[in-house]
Amino acid sequence: MSCSLHEVFDQTYRELKPRSPVPHLQVEFYNFANINNTIRLREGRLLVRISDLLEGAPEAVLKAIAHILVAKMYRKPVDREHAARYRRYVAAHRMSRKAHLVRQIRGRKRIASPQGNIYNLEAIFEELNFKFFHGLLARPQMTWSSEPARNRLGHYDPAHNAIVVSRVFDQPRVPQLVVEYIVYHEMLHLKHPVKVRGNRRCVHPAEFQADERLFPRLEDARRFLRLL
Ligand SMILES: [Zn+2]
Repeated sequence: MSCSLHEVFDQTYRELKPRSPVPHLQVEFYNFANINNTIRLREGRLLVRISDLLEGAPEAVLKAIAHILVAKMYRKPVDREHAARYRRYVAAHRMSRKAHLVRQIRGRKRIASPQGNIYNLEAIFEELNFKFFHGLLARPQMTWSSEPARNRLGHYDPAHNAIVVSRVFDQPRVPQLVVEYIVYHEMLHLKHPVKVRGNRRCVHPAEFQADERLFPRLEDARRFLRLL
């Protein structure tokens, strides 16, 4: 018998709090790094996130976790049978959980991250956005490239709405100014989309170049890049 997560929580709520109306429920499977389930009440809405490791668990197990979460939320005693059922399921699935974690970590390596060893690209974006764009640019995904490419300092990838910066620059010997300049340049591409004149693509039009000259110590940053 299949049954939606939402129904399970709805039913559990009615069982535990028969006299109060069921609040608006938002229940979803969530890709936690570890087995984890959360519940919180926000603006009258009950937000529930269930580890996606429980996706495909039997209905009795989903009922057990719903019971545990709702009971905890409203400080009701947790039924021992539900607690035991949930524990048994997690214990039995510990091995597949490990395999799942390994897959996730591998996946994470492929999907590059804004946090490098030295610099955090999101933090740099936010600072530049505040300083030069009145905080008006919507932040795309910020990622270090998976390979330390030397031919491309950085680029904007419209397909993934991502600014990708070559990992070559995530080193202590590279001044923050240089990383900022590369990010600033890509941010200007967001501000000045590529213009097409006839059949010529104008990637760095005059307004782009004028904005670029506003970057303090522009020449220092460029000199460093030439020496690289
Ligand atoms: Zn460019």
